[in-house]
Amino acid sequence: MSISENIKKFKTEIEGVSLVAISKTKPTADLLEAYNTGQRLFGENKIQEMTEKWEDLPKDIEWHMVGHVQRNKVKYMAPYVGLIHAVDSLKLLKEIDKEAKKNNRIIKCLLQIKIADEDSKFGISAEEAGSILKSEKLAEMENVKVTGLMGMATFTEDEEQVKKEFQYLKSVFDEFQKNFKELKTLSMGMSGDYEIAVECGSNMVRIGSAIFGER
Ligand SMILES: *Cc1c(COP(=O)(O)O)cnc(C)c1O
Repeated sequence: MSISENIKKFKTEIEGVSLVAISKTKPTADLLEAYNTGQRLFGENKIQEMTEKWEDLPKDIEWHMVGHVQRNKVKYMAPYVGLIHAVDSLKLLKEIDKEAKKNNRIIKCLLQIKIADEDSKFGISAEEAGSILKSEKLAEMENVKVTGLMGMATFTEDEEQVKKEFQYLKSVFDEFQKNFKELKTLSMGMSGDYEIAVECGSNMVRIGSAIFGER
């Protein structure tokens, strides 16, 4: 199927769930094809690549950074980034706040919770996320807003394990929401596991290869 057919299929299949088209490594022509079907949320994992695409493509695209972020690179995306998915420290939030202020913007962020049973996955524990959300320092930051949580499940065929991990993240999200009303977004689910993620309560999926083909 073509990129536009894939997008249309997802739009009907996961109605009500935000679809972020993960376009890393793909040429701008592919992104434009998705754009022309009405797709406006695009996600990248490298700041330089995202910035080049932002410069080349229509300005009503909302750009999501889904990769690990180094503090010294925040300044390059601060003028335009819509949502940063993988925030894992107060130090990083402080840097985002500083750069957002310079650009007279408020930047939305998600805290990445480590749910996978793998060493390679980034993220923090629910406890660490809780203490960030509660901290005075965060409350003092005027140009950054934590609006949700993000997680990546273990890369495995074992659907029960994936389900357990997503259910765990949903329970953390529900618990936090009782005290932090501004948490609205639960970003979980990729090409291989979005169906389980949506079943477990995801409201934002990040789909790359199932839209654009293998990388
Ligand atoms: C690449 C990537 C995705 C998309 O992966 P697919 O398996 O191609 O759908 C989602 N989330 C993050 C953080 C990624 O880096």
